[in-house]
Amino acid sequence: MAEFLDLEAQDGVRMAWNVLPGTKQEAINCVVPVSAIYTPIKPFPNMPPPLPYAPLRCRTCRSVLNPFCIVDFAAKIWICPFCFQRNHFPPHYASITDDNLPAELFPQYTTIEYHCDSPGERSSLPPVFIFVVDTCIIEEELSFLKSSLSQAIGLLPDNSLIGLVTFGTLVHVHELGFGQIPKAYVFKGSKDISKEQLLEQMSFFLKKPKPATGVIAGARDGLSSESIARFLLPASECEFVLSSVLEELQKDPWPVPADQRATRCTSVALSVAASLLGACVPGSGARIIAFIGGPSTEGPGAIVSKNLSEPIRSHKDLDKDSAPHYHKAVKFYEGLAKQLVHQGHVLDLFACALDQVGVAELKVAVERTGGLVVLAESFGHSVFKDSLRRIFQSGENDLGLSSSP
Ligand SMILES: [Zn+2]
Repeated sequence: MAEFLDLEAQDGVRMAWNVLPGTKQEAINCVVPVSAIYTPIKPFPNMPPPLPYAPLRCRTCRSVLNPFCIVDFAAKIWICPFCFQRNHFPPHYASITDDNLPAELFPQYTTIEYHCDSPGERSSLPPVFIFVVDTCIIEEELSFLKSSLSQAIGLLPDNSLIGLVTFGTLVHVHELGFGQIPKAYVFKGSKDISKEQLLEQMSFFLKKPKPATGVIAGARDGLSSESIARFLLPASECEFVLSSVLEELQKDPWPVPADQRATRCTSVALSVAASLLGACVPGSGARIIAFIGGPSTEGPGAIVSKNLSEPIRSHKDLDKDSAPHYHKAVKFYEGLAKQLVHQGHVLDLFACALDQVGVAELKVAVERTGGLVVLAESFGHSVFKDSLRRIFQSGENDLGLSSSP
């Protein structure tokens, strides 16, 4: 029993049972179902380096060769512990003996990683990050945020691709690949924009018949790598441009009357970022990391009107289902969640404000894409600063996102 608990702790697994039912009837009789909770990004200090080949799978149930399999070294056969199928070892395992084991059979390596580069297996694409930055915040908050972002950029893996979207009354998509001069595409914040409209307005070019070498992931879906490289640049190449864009970044310049809230088009900004990723890097690991400093008041995901006489919905209003913008906003974010899931992309949210920002409406898009939410009262608060750093930093406390988004 103690040994079983040790193994659970080592592998980041918790099981309801430590034996499997032997028959269907036994399985039916179990009041507590056979189940396991697994921790996907748990750090393993003693894990061996990834094996440079693909795992060996059971012929019948596709489970993977592991230390719990019974191995017949003379007959070169292994027996699957799940379905009892007898599997022959392939020829490259011919030298296997009791004291010449492949790493995946070592009793201590109950968790192991494989590196599969063979054609057909997914090749390793660079991680992609789009920062979506709210500029409707006071100067002090903006400077806190800028300094944290600059630090984060310094921690990014060199090969990762970076994009930047800023928003307030309008959405700005920054063209980081445009030499030394800052250039941005501007979109209205009041109306959602489709991927097709976005592509047309940003004058993306379709892939040439024979793409140049060094094509970035999305090129296979019709966009030329030149188009993609205008908005998503390797961290090593854009650090300077990105830092200077951030340095120049100003508070949203549109005047806010004393009886009104700032015009903040959070939903359209997130939608633009999602469509940009969908166009450039569909199906490859990408995250939208949004930094939001207040309630959305513009566009389909608005949670409150601009008029300060209308209070922001409270927990009570949500409970009583009397928040007037709630259903419309949730419907929008459900659509965004669907788009992101389809593209294979993640939405992370850093909501840093004393006021509400609308996580109740937005959370569906974060939850369904496996993103994370960090709530703090200010971009100057250590909860925000430390959490952001841990996303990109590798080490014991990292959130494990930089290498495998
Ligand atoms: Zn099997």
